[in-house]
Amino acid sequence: MSKIAIAVHGGAGEDSEFIRKYKKEYEEGIERALEAGYKILKENGSAVDAVETAVKALEDNPLFNAGRGSALNADGEVEMCASIMDGKNLNSGAVAIVKNVKNPVSLSKAIMLNTNYRYLGAGGALDYAKKINIALKPDAYFITEHQYDSFAKKRKEEFLDSKEIALSEINKKYHGTVGAVALDREGNLAAATSTGGTSNCKVGRIGDSSVIGAGCYANNRACAVSATGDGEFIVKSVLASSIRCAMQYKKLNVQEACEFVVSDENGDEKGDIGVIALDPEGNVGIVFNCKRMHRGYRMEGRKPFVKIYE
Ligand code: ASP
Repeated sequence: MSKIAIAVHGGAGEDSEFIRKYKKEYEEGIERALEAGYKILKENGSAVDAVETAVKALEDNPLFNAGRGSALNADGEVEMCASIMDGKNLNSGAVAIVKNVKNPVSLSKAIMLNTNYRYLGAGGALDYAKKINIALKPDAYFITEHQYDSFAKKRKEEFLDSKEIALSEINKKYHGTVGAVALDREGNLAAATSTGGTSNCKVGRIGDSSVIGAGCYANNRACAVSATGDGEFIVKSVLASSIRCAMQYKKLNVQEACEFVVSDENGDEKGDIGVIALDPEGNVGIVFNCKRMHRGYRMEGRKPFVKIYE
């Protein structure tokens, strides 16, 4: 019988007035997701079910950029991406730029368990969701005032042109993607990641969150990883799988592997990166190269840990 453990994140990146104002609510959201996932593990449920449950709690929470509360693309619409991976058999499921699905992580899990495919996108993913009666919601359900304001501000900045506003200001990103990694009693690891993407991004953009090996990876022989930050950098560095390789082939422990990949290998990158990882003994690795990362973990016999800043 293995020790059980779970870690979750709710995005890493710039700090903002909004985050400071709702710090307590964010922390409570992380805590609730941890509790929901931990309960599954405690009742001898699987790591796959635990990460799905934790991510669902964050997708349903309008403060985070996944499910309800997703960022709006350049057309002012919500397109979501999510993935899940089972470290026991390396099976995975993912969806990209899907609309109206209440919990994209659950659709990813259904694809993993019930189809011969690994990855469905856009209309095809929505058709499959309808076929299997996954909960759907109207467009308005996903759009929060906060995300609408961020989108409107970005549009205005774009319109005013980079001559008037420092480029760094335009590029500031307030990532709120969510993810979870878990270890169950059977010693199986799993990871899941879910996102609304980046505010005002090109229609049809797919970041790292649904890309297995980049924003999500799990393998019982090494670790489970969920990433957040600038998707384009995370895809470029094949981040989650690189952490696994650093453990398997460089023999680093989980924290060292996260540090090596984020800080040494990608230290020159200008993008925001945050990762959570868990090894088969239930040790947690957390690294972020930016101002804050909404994060938390819970291990057997220990009090839950929840933090946003350093
Ligand atoms: N990684 C996500 C993406 O690029 C954004 C985030 O982490 O908030 O789509």
